Amino acid sequence: MSYKIQRGKAKFILGIDSVKQLEEFLVSNENIIGVAMVGRSNVGKSSTINALFGKTIARVSNTPGRTRQVNVFEFELDGMEEGQQTFYLFDLPGYGHAQVSKDMQKNWRMLMNCFFDYLSKNICIINIQDSRHPHQASDQEFHRYMKQFDNETFLVLNKCDKLKKQKERAALKKLMPEILKEYKWVKKFFIASANRGDSIDQIHDALVTFLLDKFEKEDFATFESDGQD
Ligand code: GDP
Repeated sequence: MSYKIQRGKAKFILGIDSVKQLEEFLVSNENIIGVAMVGRSNVGKSSTINALFGKTIARVSNTPGRTRQVNVFEFELDGMEEGQQTFYLFDLPGYGHAQVSKDMQKNWRMLMNCFFDYLSKNICIINIQDSRHPHQASDQEFHRYMKQFDNETFLVLNKCDKLKKQKERAALKKLMPEILKEYKWVKKFFIASANRGDSIDQIHDALVTFLLDKFEKEDFATFESDGQD
């Protein structure tokens, strides 16, 4: 693929922990194109972001549930002219963390309700799960919630390098049809390892294809409306 996410150049622009601020941002940026990464805490969301966007951008932590903000980054694609199109990366706070207080969980729910209610349809959702124990109660809850929105969704089953035994890999294979039946609105799924690099190129290419498709549609819409003046 000739277009690539510019590595190590995603720019952090905003960390949002208030619903009002999030609503303002999304309403004033309604047709933005990009990707939102979301998953249970500790599944390797930051590591996957780093693998896709370059080392420097997301903090990898050993403490589940610490990032409570929606972190917004801007990035561009190599292969496009500089400044031609800004894309957005949303690093969403992890869900399903038992350790955090009820107030924090409530705040998470309010932030996420606002996020998905106002989100541009040009944002691809990448849901990351742990391939050793996918489809946990909180993953299922998230997907039930996602059904009502029609954003394109990819499912990434991360940490596949930890499936050392044949028995573990066979168990995942056996579970896959059930998961895919349940998640039938998921456009693509990947069995990946952010640490070892498995499927990272494939996720990258699928994401870039999504971004370019949305870019062309938005570009065409602008061209059409310009033509009517
Ligand atoms: P997040 O909380 O979902 O953002 O998870 P992090 O990216 O901070 O990762 C949590 C822990 O899982 C860290 O110790 C990572 O090194 C580890 N981790 C992340 N991805 C992988 C992977 O693909 N394989 C293995 N073995 N460990 C991983």
